[in-house]
Amino acid sequence: MSQWLLETGEYSDFMIECQGQTFKAHRAVVCPQSSIIDALLKKDLEETQTSTVHIDGFSVEAVQCLLRFIYGVPRPLNVPVNTILDPMAASSTKEFQFKTTGQSQIQVAPTAEDDKKNRLVFLVWANAIADSYKVQGLCKLTCDKIKSLLENEWAPEIFLKVAQVVPIATGDMAVHHLFAQVAAEHVEDLAKHENGLSGLLALDGFFTLFLKHSAARVAELKKTANNQANQAQTLSTKVMACIKKLNDTKKCRHCAVKFDCYIETSLSTLRCAACQTRHPCT
Ligand SMILES: [Zn+2]
Repeated sequence: MSQWLLETGEYSDFMIECQGQTFKAHRAVVCPQSSIIDALLKKDLEETQTSTVHIDGFSVEAVQCLLRFIYGVPRPLNVPVNTILDPMAASSTKEFQFKTTGQSQIQVAPTAEDDKKNRLVFLVWANAIADSYKVQGLCKLTCDKIKSLLENEWAPEIFLKVAQVVPIATGDMAVHHLFAQVAAEHVEDLAKHENGLSGLLALDGFFTLFLKHSAARVAELKKTANNQANQAQTLSTKVMACIKKLNDTKKCRHCAVKFDCYIETSLSTLRCAACQTRHPCT
């Protein structure tokens, strides 16, 4: 039903305008999910007696994502991404939409790498619009998608380029933390891209978050190393006890035949191969 309202614009009672394009929307659907749009609409009604919310600083596609999410359209982020992106990000996106050869500028098909980068940048902007208009569900959805793309398709060059967009694009601290955490987890890999990494660390606020997540990672690695050292120590003690027991036991105490045994997988007991009697090692 909601999807039908969005697609047809029937019973619309206000407009959303972005980059010269208008979308017919419904207070009853949008306002409960975005306190910001609700407030803007009330202000607009008071001041101009119109019912239009102007969205600046975002692409039409980002607005489409926002509305698709609010109206419960399945796969709300599923909009074409090759031509998107906010005007603020345009200078950084042109480079992969166009390449120059000699005098003429020709459009080239995006490579798989361009696609991945476009997709990530788009998700950051979809997160940004969700954060700006306080649509928490879309903030979480986009953050989860970014996390899964970063983790499942790790590519340091793309990460470094997209991470540059994060501080200027979104105010969602969950995404800032996510990029700092991923940078801390892949710091050895990122260090091979010295310029990219130093550029990233120079970004406002990023260095502090990076240090915080690096410290957490070091603590986690120490914990793992300690656990492994303890396990190795326990194993070594058990093996030594087994060897001692084997050396000390000449005959089975039960059947008294020459001791032919096997070690149980717990490494704590020798068992007589003839009568199965247990000979604890400790
Ligand atoms: Zn025996």
